[in-house]
Amino acid sequence: MDRADSSDKKPKFYLTTPIYYANSRPHVGSAYTTIVCDVIARYKRMCGYDVAYLTGTDEHGVNIERAAEKAEITPQELVDKNEKIFRDLWKLLGITTTDFIRTTSDEHARAVQTLVRRTIERDQNLPPEKRALYKAKYEGRYCIYDNLYVSDTPEPADCPTCGRPAELISEENYFFKLSAYQQKLLELYETKPDFVQPDFRMNEVKSFVEAGLKDVSISRKTIKWGIPWPDDPEHVFYVWYDALTSYLSGIGYGEGADGEANPNFKKYWPADLHMIGKEIIRFHAVYWPAFLMAAGLRLPNQVFAHGWLLFEQEKMSKSKGNVAYPEPIVKVLGNDALRYYLLREVVFGQDGNFSRDSLITRYNADLANGLGNLASRILTMIASYCGSAIPNAPEVPPRLEELVSAPHLKAIRSGYDGFAFSEVLTSVWKLVEATDKYIVEEKPWSLAQNPSESDRLGRVLYAAAESLRMITVLAHPVIPDATLKIWGQLGQPGKLADVRIDQLTWGGLRPGTKVGKPQAVFPRADKIQAWERMESMEQEIRNPKPVEPVSSRSGSATSAAPATDGKITIEDFAKIDLRVGQVTSAERVQGADKLLKLVVDIGDEVRQVLAGIALAYAPEDLIGRKVVIVANLAPRKMRGLESNGMLLAASAGADGLPVLCTFAEDIPPGAKVK
Ligand SMILES: [Zn+2]
Repeated sequence: MDRADSSDKKPKFYLTTPIYYANSRPHVGSAYTTIVCDVIARYKRMCGYDVAYLTGTDEHGVNIERAAEKAEITPQELVDKNEKIFRDLWKLLGITTTDFIRTTSDEHARAVQTLVRRTIERDQNLPPEKRALYKAKYEGRYCIYDNLYVSDTPEPADCPTCGRPAELISEENYFFKLSAYQQKLLELYETKPDFVQPDFRMNEVKSFVEAGLKDVSISRKTIKWGIPWPDDPEHVFYVWYDALTSYLSGIGYGEGADGEANPNFKKYWPADLHMIGKEIIRFHAVYWPAFLMAAGLRLPNQVFAHGWLLFEQEKMSKSKGNVAYPEPIVKVLGNDALRYYLLREVVFGQDGNFSRDSLITRYNADLANGLGNLASRILTMIASYCGSAIPNAPEVPPRLEELVSAPHLKAIRSGYDGFAFSEVLTSVWKLVEATDKYIVEEKPWSLAQNPSESDRLGRVLYAAAESLRMITVLAHPVIPDATLKIWGQLGQPGKLADVRIDQLTWGGLRPGTKVGKPQAVFPRADKIQAWERMESMEQEIRNPKPVEPVSSRSGSATSAAPATDGKITIEDFAKIDLRVGQVTSAERVQGADKLLKLVVDIGDEVRQVLAGIALAYAPEDLIGRKVVIVANLAPRKMRGLESNGMLLAASAGADGLPVLCTFAEDIPPGAKVK
């Protein structure tokens, strides 16, 4: 999405998602914030705002260094790969971001260094103990999985987010004098009580700051994968100073003497909204305004911390393995289904539960049987009874009057403005239900049988279609794909995304407008089938098929030379446990003409082994016979029977039948074959 059509007269609105840590692929939990922000961005555009919407990827840190090492690629290669997965997903989800920032980009490094330089310059005439930045020894516990300072003392501590033991860190760092900002922050919260939302989070933040603030370390010396400190490149920036500055760099901060020369930055900063998950509230509501104050920059307008999306009542996290991925949902039910479900099901701000069962139920109830069915009914009736033209009867029927009235529409907009998405959708779907009821009560199919009722038929179908048009506009920020289709089917001109939601009134549908062919926008989903398709796609994402290694002709060997030309090493061969066994019983397997079920004595134990030799050997001929078996083969099931081992046989004797390996000398069962 570009800003080409933006006008300087429009008010601006700048919102951000957190930047996502690029060490793994995004799950539904990480898509949640991005979808919510997309709904806000689309809504604000429909209210006439010039919107800048930023997301991005956090690409520094120990965890990425380690993940890259494990994958035997460079950290840059790792983040390049993962960043693309994020971008592709946002595309799939129809996300309308205007900017995407990567913390490994040159623009971002320049912005971080500029922010620090400006802070140092502002403090240069102050005595050292009054300056915002200083160097000192740091010792503390840190969770590398969550990028979280767990404690600022060396005592062992567990991460509150993932429960793992946190690592001890001890070295000389640059510190930010957060302790000096207690008063200024409390003043900020006092003068701007909605700086943090919801209110209960504001109270948490206030209590935290009132209890006193400790200075925070913002650089590391042991790590190489980061942005170098200006004029002291042995140190790199660590986590929050680096990550938070993306909100500036993403819209062009860092250019010119004061860093603020870029016109985009001038236009959009300060941010109107930083949307985040509740686990990073402190960094956004305490650290971030302090960092900005120290550099003399204006503060964002609001930080909104939403709850977690839980999966079986637990926070989704890759380390716990309880994640759902967005791609299977989108591929099975469509983009709108996921968006609608997340916004309708979760009371925004609170924790919400994600379940595939309720997702499919909601999809069928509200979208397929609800809006989708309503749209197809109305359009089909206009096609059959009115020659595909909108009738001329723009009156509001009493049944719909209240739901399309100015106060009700205003309440819906207030819901959007206050991020009460579940309420917004409940209100819009009241109109869906009322329109449906109105049709059932008026029975246009009966009216159509009677020529004297043609005026009434026109009134009913106009009202139904106009109501559908209003629903389409009101729901567009949440379900952009389906509403766009219905908009087209209603024969509406112009871009739906440009329609002013704040100027919506009854009667916008022009009589005589030709409607298009009705098409199903939300085909009904078979619950079991949809579930199974999603499940199997999830499995593929969780356990991707191994990719054949790409051979490099000129590449130098990185480790002990592996065997080549299809040969294996002696170590490889030693892994196979071959033993002499003696068959103690043998019988045919019912329904399988090639299979025999054998019991084989291998010295220290007796095994059941299934062998495909029934065409070559009669069971009774095998009793007492010495064979060679692979004793450490993982058990397999064949025809419902377990096979613990495999008999060695030459593959092609007479008539291509197998010939068992055996011995000329007498060997006791259990002897190793090497
Ligand atoms: Zn952790």
